[in-house]
Amino acid sequence: MIKIKNVSKYFNTKAALKQVNLEIFDGETLAIIGGSGSGKSTLLRLMIGLIQPSEGEIWIDEDEISKMSEEDLTRVRLKMGMVFQYSALFDSMSVGDNVAFGLVEHTDLPKDKINSIVKEKLHQVGLEGVENLMPNELSGGMKKRVSLARAIAINPQIIFYDEPSSGLDPITTRTIDELIISTQKSLRVTSVVVTHDMASACRIADRIAMVYKGELIALDTVENFRKINDPRVQDFFKSLVTQ
Ligand code: ADP
Repeated sequence: MIKIKNVSKYFNTKAALKQVNLEIFDGETLAIIGGSGSGKSTLLRLMIGLIQPSEGEIWIDEDEISKMSEEDLTRVRLKMGMVFQYSALFDSMSVGDNVAFGLVEHTDLPKDKINSIVKEKLHQVGLEGVENLMPNELSGGMKKRVSLARAIAINPQIIFYDEPSSGLDPITTRTIDELIISTQKSLRVTSVVVTHDMASACRIADRIAMVYKGELIALDTVENFRKINDPRVQDFFKSLVTQ
């Protein structure tokens, strides 16, 4: 589904990512973990085509997106749903309009059809009758749900989550983790989750990739990941225990 081939990204002369190779399979959930400043967000922004690599290629299915025009990229982005850090809802729009946003922008569907899709998607994330509320009337967990409903409104094949547990308490984090799992199962999407929360990564992912100072230093199934003997991986686990 996604292939990252020999990708490096420099900001001025500083390498944020170095020679990263990563293949993300159709239908899997991959968690990308790493400390602050390790390059996780850069990797995510490259995959959604927000920034271009300095070297290397990024493939989404049959498309190499790193050198695409904005118009072609828009077509590829319709395969992607994004759940941003802190939900990133449009504050001046109602919940319903937030969820409808991609459908209004990218389809010619009539308003009543859009309304029924919005209702259905909100239902899928466990919300009912919230269309007319404004984002500032919602709790952090509800905002995440709305953000996910907006992401799945266009029936994406891939969902990207950027730090889905940021700003949430541990119990809400668990319910959002469960929602990520159930969404993956019901829609059979490929999910890419950027997180610094190892416990959450272990709950939701099939495989975990670890980025350290711009390098992809470990990639394995959740079960095998804990056994990796690299001190940088082990230190990451230890730092979480003492946090
Ligand atoms: P993470 O998401 O793991 O916290 P980032 O991908 O945001 O890490 O950052 C990786 C490195 O790249 C950091 O050293 C950061 O300062 C640098 N970086 C990220 N984005 C930019 C940018 N737009 N301009 C300059 N440096 C950047």
